[in-house]
Amino acid sequence: MTRQHIVVLSGAGISAESGVKTFRDDNGLWEGHRVEDVATPEAWQRNPELVLDFYNQRRRQLYQVEPNPGHLAIAELESRYRVSVLTQNVDNLHERAGSTEVVHLHGELDLARSTVDESRLYPLKGRDIRLGDTCELGSQLRPHVVWFGEAVPEMERAMALAETADILIVVGTSLFVYPAAGLASCAPATARRYLINPELPAHFDMDGFTCIQEKAGGALPDLVKQLLSEAG
Ligand code: NAD
Repeated sequence: MTRQHIVVLSGAGISAESGVKTFRDDNGLWEGHRVEDVATPEAWQRNPELVLDFYNQRRRQLYQVEPNPGHLAIAELESRYRVSVLTQNVDNLHERAGSTEVVHLHGELDLARSTVDESRLYPLKGRDIRLGDTCELGSQLRPHVVWFGEAVPEMERAMALAETADILIVVGTSLFVYPAAGLASCAPATARRYLINPELPAHFDMDGFTCIQEKAGGALPDLVKQLLSEAG
């Protein structure tokens, strides 16, 4: 029998219980910075050193945190389901929890890329990127993240996956950042839908969703237990 397909759309909230701050925690500041100062192409033009420093700090933090019960529960689903994780997160906690199909809509902290050829990616393994670090073509390296105002190259692949979902789980996202937020509306009408967030996003049409107003680390293990027992 073919396995049912579970699609998980995750955001910063799923990593909050691992100690990684969400973007909207502190009055709209991200780790003390305005997004316009650290996560836009204009910020990179204006002050590349500040931008590199911001992402270097985020990357160093990655090596001090661990996946939490929410990430681990999603990985466990693979014992009975096909699972695609579409994440807005640039951390690698889904992979470290054991998830094998993870689409990083907004890139990955632990990769650098060339500023003249987007296909040239370099694993950092925790290392910093410094001004003067270049690709083989001699151009400055930048973080492999999608900044506000940039295109999301993985959108097409993510939409194709969402459109084949039997079950959709939307967890830990404010659903404010587009186009990624649009994926919450891409599952077929027949799909079962769950939304997990301690603060339900009021601007989003939750019709058809089972809403679980709790933290991911508590709600996901329970939901996963239920889904695994259904699958037998
Ligand atoms: P967001 O910061 O806009 O929203 C976070 C959401 O998570 C909120 O709705 C909040 O209520 C919810 N939340 C907080 N704690 C939670 C918990 N314990 N369990 C479940 N939900 C919880 O995040 P977003 O929607 O992902 O958009 C922000 C953008 O910033 C993303 O595109 C992402 O690239 C970037 N970002 C990434 C990380 C990361 O990689 N871990 C962290 C911060 C920001």
